[in-house]
Amino acid sequence: MNNLQISSIIDKAEKNHHLDCDEICTLLAIESDELLQKLFQAAYRIKLAEIGNIVSLRGLIEIGNICRKNCYYCGIRSGNHNLSRYLLTQDEILHCAELAIKFNYGSIVLQGGELNTPDFIDFIEDTLIKIKKLSDNQLGITLSLGEQTLESYQRWFAAGAHRYLLRIETSNEELYKKLHPASHSFKERLNSLDYLRRANYQVGSGVMFGFEGQSYSDMANDLLFLKKLDVDMVGMGPYSIHKDTPMGANHPPLDNDKQLKLGLKMIAVLRLIMPDINIASTTVLQALSPMGREAGLLAGANVIMPNLSDVVYRKSYQLYDNKPGIDENALESRENLEKSIHSIGEKINYGQWGDSRHFAKR
Ligand code: SAM
Ligand code: SF4
Repeated sequence: MNNLQISSIIDKAEKNHHLDCDEICTLLAIESDELLQKLFQAAYRIKLAEIGNIVSLRGLIEIGNICRKNCYYCGIRSGNHNLSRYLLTQDEILHCAELAIKFNYGSIVLQGGELNTPDFIDFIEDTLIKIKKLSDNQLGITLSLGEQTLESYQRWFAAGAHRYLLRIETSNEELYKKLHPASHSFKERLNSLDYLRRANYQVGSGVMFGFEGQSYSDMANDLLFLKKLDVDMVGMGPYSIHKDTPMGANHPPLDNDKQLKLGLKMIAVLRLIMPDINIASTTVLQALSPMGREAGLLAGANVIMPNLSDVVYRKSYQLYDNKPGIDENALESRENLEKSIHSIGEKINYGQWGDSRHFAKR
């Protein structure tokens, strides 16, 4: 396909927000800088028209790295014994929530390894109630704590959480089986996404991409899957190596520039087909390039998750090697982020929950 034809696919999608699998594959395969800029600029124009030059923040609290799962790619998988395990105390989580209030972030995310013991479910429920009380109901709360029963999701919703992020990781069941041990079920993952909708959350999902054995058409189908699921928000990012994992051990180095470009193309194409959802510019982009998260915003993303966790714990929460900001405290994270967001002409949506327009229209 020549550049003129590719250019007309972008023009058409900017107007009607529709792309089929072949068209998405064509856009994901773009190599020319001129066409890449055209794609990113079209996605950014949609973001400006639907959302404005506004970035919403979610203060990220990495509550613990104890996980019952053993995903082949993840640095905190249960089978990795080269790290010390932690679960923050309630006071430590509340302290992070207080920082979010002090920094006027408007919203937080509690993210961590997947646990489903009755004690853990009670602990999260009680912590949510305390965060709501402490913030006078002002702080928005997103959870990302893996697969749970419908009842647990409902209890956490009733306690004050209103958004939940659960990535499908890949929409291709065969690939899912390659990324996970046999005990991790693709169908259960889908069921959990259904439970989240039934429990009234704003539902977020996402994928990991750019790993061996995956084709452009798998990635295109991932984006079409997210559209079909009608998600309110997306957090997705390129695979990055963690050497103490089955997928990362002996993995040849990945090309950072290629992974970053792929990440930006995925964001831009998603923005073309889902104009009014929240899309996160994830930390993994910053790991690939110092200005990676800002590039994500300019390719159509509108959410950033600055880390609020204490630096003492950050090195124990490495999903992949070379996680950025490991020694940077929450105040430094905030100051650096504010400067860099302003430098690209965007404004921070301080003090707001920043729900997606997609959800508001539902
Ligand atoms: N345990 C919860 C779950 O899996 O849904 C939430 C925390 S989990 C660490 C958050 C996300 O990290 C996962 O959905 C996965 O996509 C991502 N992740 C883990 N290891 C990664 C890696 N090596 N490269 C890129 N992303 C990774
Ligand atoms: Fe656990 Fe989530 Fe990592 Fe899988 S991706 S091992 S569920 S923390």
